[in-house]
Order: sequence, then C-alpha cells, then structure tokens
Amino acid sequence: EMVKALREAKKNQSGRNIFDSIVEKQIKVDVLYEDDHCMAFKDVNPQAPTHFLVIPKTRIQMLEQATDEHESILGKLLLTAKRLANERLPNGYRVVINNGPEGCQSVYYLHVHVIGGRQLTWPPG
Ligand code: ADP
Repeated sequence: EMVKALREAKKNQSGRNIFDSIVEKQIKVDVLYEDDHCMAFKDVNPQAPTHFLVIPKTRIQMLEQATDEHESILGKLLLTAKRLANERLPNGYRVVINNGPEGCQSVYYLHVHVIGGRQLTWPPG
C-alpha cells in the first residue's frame, strides 16, 4: 500500500494537471486577476470565507523545483497575493505554499494560497 501510494504521488508530480488546463482556459474558474505572468482565481474548496490561489502562467511543479531563473515570477506571485489580499482582507490573512507530500501538496503546479475572512489559528493542522 505504501509503495503504491508513493508511486501514485510520483506520478502526480510529473506531467500536466488541472492548473495547466486552467491557465489554458480549458477549465473555467472564478478569475480575480490575470496578467502576462500570473493568474489568481477562487479556490473551489475554500478553507475560509476568502480563499484564492495565485499561480504562474508557466508551470513550476512545486517550490522545491524553483531556481534563480524563477526569482522574478516568485516575487510577482507574492506581490500579486498581497495586492489582492489588501483589497479584500484589511484585517489580515495568511499566505501558504504547500510543498510535497508531507507539506500536503495535492496539485503539482506551484500555487500560493491566500486565506482569510475569519480569525485563523496557529499552528496549522
Ligand atoms: P491541498 O489540496 O492539500 O490544499 P494544494 O496546496 O496542492 O493541496 O492545493 C490545491 C488547491 O487547489 C486546493 O485548495 C483545491 O481546493 C484547489 N483546487 C483544485 N482544483 C481546483 C479547481 N478546478 N479550481 C479551483 N481550485 C481548485
């Protein structure tokens, strides 16, 4: 079972996934912002009253795969997250990047979660 689960996880980490389809407009999402480099849309399974994702338009599988060549896009993702959050969540919010199986990453296309609209707690689960 363990071996099967690990094999499944590896398979999910390579190749196209649902966020590729979202960037290519093959799947409709509730878009909050878009420019040449990134896109922000509402999470389909919100963990708080406000929950949206910011993703680069060119795929990076996970934070772990990011290199110096991604410095500019990583900056844009955070600044976009901040700007959209400032407009919607004046009392604060949380920015999260899940990385790898133990980080609870399920979609292997780098994305920044922005979560807020209620009192969040720490530590996260
Ligand atoms: P987790 O699923 O544990 O939060 P991730 O950090 O990989 O792991 O997050 C993937 C996020 O993508 C989830 O919050 C999920 O609800 C969201 N998601 C998956 N499919 C879609 C979709 N079609 N539209 C919007 N959000 C989606």
